[in-house]
Amino acid sequence: MDGAATAFEAQRRYMVERQLKSRGIRDPRVLEAMGRIPRELFVPEKYRHNAYCDEPIPIGCGQTISQPYITALMAQVLELQGAEKVLEVGAGSGYHAAVLGALAAEVITVEIIPELAEMARRNLEAAGCAANVRVICADGSLGYAELAPYDAISVAAAAPEIPPKLLEQLADPGRLVIPIGSLDEQELTLVTKSQGVISSRVAALCRFVPLRGGEGWKLQ
Ligand code: SAH
Repeated sequence: MDGAATAFEAQRRYMVERQLKSRGIRDPRVLEAMGRIPRELFVPEKYRHNAYCDEPIPIGCGQTISQPYITALMAQVLELQGAEKVLEVGAGSGYHAAVLGALAAEVITVEIIPELAEMARRNLEAAGCAANVRVICADGSLGYAELAPYDAISVAAAAPEIPPKLLEQLADPGRLVIPIGSLDEQELTLVTKSQGVISSRVAALCRFVPLRGGEGWKLQ
């Protein structure tokens, strides 16, 4: 392993201890995945030295890769066991999809900006995480009906309310995590479907880029 890779590995270990474990991320599979996946391969070259910082990082097209803790929290509340089919809305860099791919059988991640969908594909390949992750360029606010239902859905962009198509495409039992609120601040909300009953609870306060498209924010 070269010097840069060793340095990133040390930063990754430190991130797991200081940003994840110390804030209550306990799922050993989430900790293992985030301790292994090379996040530096998912951020633009010029931010690579910041890959393990405790904050979001710009990835181009006005979008950001979430802070590691938020990715971990979102993955943890889905309680993935390994056999699930997961839908992600908002592939961005592809990092979060790589983490979900390590925790579930199959991930379909939908990205509305073609340039980012292409970037996510490239990053997933480069990191060796592409085998069970499919990137689709489409409006994910409508879900992806072709492959529904999904055992879990993870939405990486903020919505005014839960997009109805996502609830429809969620399996029963199923778990969906989504930031709900205004453009400035949202509640990271865990929605569960069980025997036909939908319930929800707030996992954290958060700030995400807006969900666009048919069921998202109407922005220029
Ligand atoms: N999960 C990403 C972070 C994504 S940021 C990562 O790990 O890097 C949110 C992403 O959602 C952006 O790339 C944005 O373009 C995308 N997005 C916004 N609205 C969308 C929609 N309706 N369908 C699919 N993707 C959408």
